[in-house]
Amino acid sequence: MATATLPAMLPSVKSFVAEKRKMLVNGKWIEAVSDRTFEVFNPATGDVLAHVASGDVQDINAAVKAARAAFETGPWSRMTPSDRGKLIWKLADLIEQHLEEFAQLESLDNGKPLTVARVADVPLAIDLFRYMAGWATKIEGNTIPVSVPYAPGAKFFAYTTREPVGVVGQIIPWNFPLLMAAWKLGPALAAGCTVVLKPAEQTPLSALLLGKLICEAGFPDGVVNIVTGFGETAGAALAQHPGIDKIAFTGSTEVGKLIVEAAARDLKKVTLELGGKSPNIVFGDADLNTAIAGAANAIFFNHGQCCCAGSRLYVEQGIFDDVVNGVAEAARSIKVGEGFAPDTQMGPLVSEEQLNRVSGYLDAGFAEGAEAVCGGKRGSGTGYFVEPTVLVKTNAKMKVVQEEIFGPVVTAMPFKSAEDIAPIANDTVYGLAAGIWTSDISKAHRAAAQLRAGTVWINCYNVFDAALPFGGYKQSGWGREMGHDALENYTETKAVCIAI
Ligand code: NAP
Ligand code: MG
Repeated sequence: MATATLPAMLPSVKSFVAEKRKMLVNGKWIEAVSDRTFEVFNPATGDVLAHVASGDVQDINAAVKAARAAFETGPWSRMTPSDRGKLIWKLADLIEQHLEEFAQLESLDNGKPLTVARVADVPLAIDLFRYMAGWATKIEGNTIPVSVPYAPGAKFFAYTTREPVGVVGQIIPWNFPLLMAAWKLGPALAAGCTVVLKPAEQTPLSALLLGKLICEAGFPDGVVNIVTGFGETAGAALAQHPGIDKIAFTGSTEVGKLIVEAAARDLKKVTLELGGKSPNIVFGDADLNTAIAGAANAIFFNHGQCCCAGSRLYVEQGIFDDVVNGVAEAARSIKVGEGFAPDTQMGPLVSEEQLNRVSGYLDAGFAEGAEAVCGGKRGSGTGYFVEPTVLVKTNAKMKVVQEEIFGPVVTAMPFKSAEDIAPIANDTVYGLAAGIWTSDISKAHRAAAQLRAGTVWINCYNVFDAALPFGGYKQSGWGREMGHDALENYTETKAVCIAI
């Protein structure tokens, strides 16, 4: 690939990655107490991209202390909802002014195409903050008529208020680094909480740029603290910390269970957005071109590194070959390359660890009898590339059908009829999302009702909006992100009853 054709890194991005990146605690940029740093890699080349402070338990302690003080006594605790909303809106404006910087950082750090980060990751984050800014003034309780049967003749006036849950620990993954920070911070700040955020070790850079803008917007010190570091140290310290009222986590189901165990010690509130193995169902009466393009997008968007990826493709038997061949053709046409190249449609996976994990799943699938219609191998070069892959001859017992691969790998399986498919689609420990492709509106609604998933897309896939709640049934999680549902997770209900 000719480097000369790549867009130049903005000077501000160049200097951002060149300087050792510090953590944000109580409004100040600080080194880790241990003075340690860790390396962040460019997944397209495997080269070191940046050095970042490696926070651990002592840094988490300092951040929680700052967040607690900001929640209880700082200016944030006295700020009106309207002023909170204005600050969140201002943050959205600042992100918009720095859109290209964020897009470049996201592409360099995560590997995703710059063209995608520009139109998806960054604008969705901006939109989420604006949506949540509006909610700050609309978090309302109710007035409730009460009867109190054991107090005949007595009169009471009762109402509820919704109060911020307190100091929140937020742990986010690497697949949409800025957007996941926005999904977490937006509702917490709208509700009046304070936050300690721990970004993923693979992709901490956009959260740190966001931290700069949080300071610039004028959020009081300690309202948002950002501690970079490893999951096993900084993340675990946050999940266990007795000074945290709630922990919000997005990542693997395996680590989600560790978070619950840690939070159980002092019964912190917990919300989890975990893995998925989402069924994508194409009925015989679907518009084939739309369904094929949609099925390809469902698995290959973001290199399959989406918790809601449509990774189990079920196709009604009469059209199985047509759909599989169509999706394979789409896969073969995907331009895989480094994120900055303007024609790149799919970048590398985020890390060597992720590359090895996905390659391990492919090996396991082949060992169990799966066949690749296209792809099936890692890509050439030093980066962490994997070919977009369509597997057939798979069955429900195989590892590649049961477990989340989190890479550009779809398993395609035929089914007999509309009556059979719901139990097959629901045969998973996950329940995050599902797709349905059909021209029969009644069939679509019937299937949507039968699927045990937090999101069902009909004749579309990967449609996200700040107003639409997102989250999982079963082992895909607890609670919802986005929409007004997200605010429920950041508030406590207080019932007030007055004798009158
Ligand atoms: P992960 O370990 O679950 O990481 C998610 C976040 O949790 C990161 O910030 C991570 O920090 C932190 N973490 C890790 N161990 C922790 C612990 N013991 N206590 C507290 N926090 C901890 O995910 P991963 O290792 O990056 O990826 C593994 C698999 O998870 C993927 O293959 C995929 O299947 C799944 N995944 C799902 C999502 C999703 O959106 N649902 C996102 C990413 C990955 P570090 O970055 O330092 O590890
Ligand atoms: Mg990890």
